[in-house]
Amino acid sequence: MGAIAGRVAVITGASSGIGAAIARELSEAGAYLVLTARRQDRLEALAADLPGKSAVLSADITMPETPETLLAFATAQFGRADILVNNAGILRVGPLDTFDLAHLSPMIATNYEAPVRTSYVFARAMKAAGGGSIVNISSIGAHLTAAGVGIYGGLKKALEMASDALRIELAGSGVRVGLVAPGTTATEIFADMKAHGEQGWDEYITPLQPEDIARAVRYLLEQPARANVARMHVYAAADS
Ligand code: NDP
Repeated sequence: MGAIAGRVAVITGASSGIGAAIARELSEAGAYLVLTARRQDRLEALAADLPGKSAVLSADITMPETPETLLAFATAQFGRADILVNNAGILRVGPLDTFDLAHLSPMIATNYEAPVRTSYVFARAMKAAGGGSIVNISSIGAHLTAAGVGIYGGLKKALEMASDALRIELAGSGVRVGLVAPGTTATEIFADMKAHGEQGWDEYITPLQPEDIARAVRYLLEQPARANVARMHVYAAADS
């Protein structure tokens, strides 16, 4: 078994964008995949198109029982979970006068509570098994802020702190925890944001492609067991 080949990888938010690209990258590297998100049809279409074995579980990651369900599903399908990529997330931004505060709770649930809960559930199982890797998808928003994006960026920053602390706590256990912070990337996240009544800046910048982020995730996972790439920032060369 290699660093990725033959490993079982669970990817959240696999139905589109960066998560789907990570699924393709890890499948091409020989991983067995558990793909999860809410849209089952999208997951099934992706699974049918991947070169390697994969299994699909439709679930809302904000439901408190989902992480345990995911772990049980991965174990039933493939015997274990070696890799977790916490990628599912939503983007809601907006100015003081118009930002809909109804977005606050779903943002906290999706972008902070869910990846933290999922990390803890999987980290406990990986620690008991003697090894594993967790990659959390953060954002440039955790590092550079601007008017109207602070709530999103703040939650990603909070995820980074929880992730870093878990990495330190798990030192020597065989379980590695790392972060990838993407810059603006061409995905459906902006259309989804606009569908929820918010405006964005995506028209004004040169976006990365989802594959650019997927390669970074693969790099983290491919390192020898002695090395833990704690964080990687991937920003558009045209903007940074
Ligand atoms: P997409 O909107 O393309 O994908 C988001 C994914 O998250 C979808 O698969 C969606 O699946 C899933 N998801 C959202 N809410 C839930 C939920 N409640 N339960 C289960 N799954 C959910 O966005 P991106 O690919 O761009 O985003 C992926 C990650 O990258 C996010 O964490 C985002 O914050 C981060 N990021 C993105 C950047 C960008 O510019 N695109 C920049 C920096 C970070 P479904 O709707 O089927 O449930």
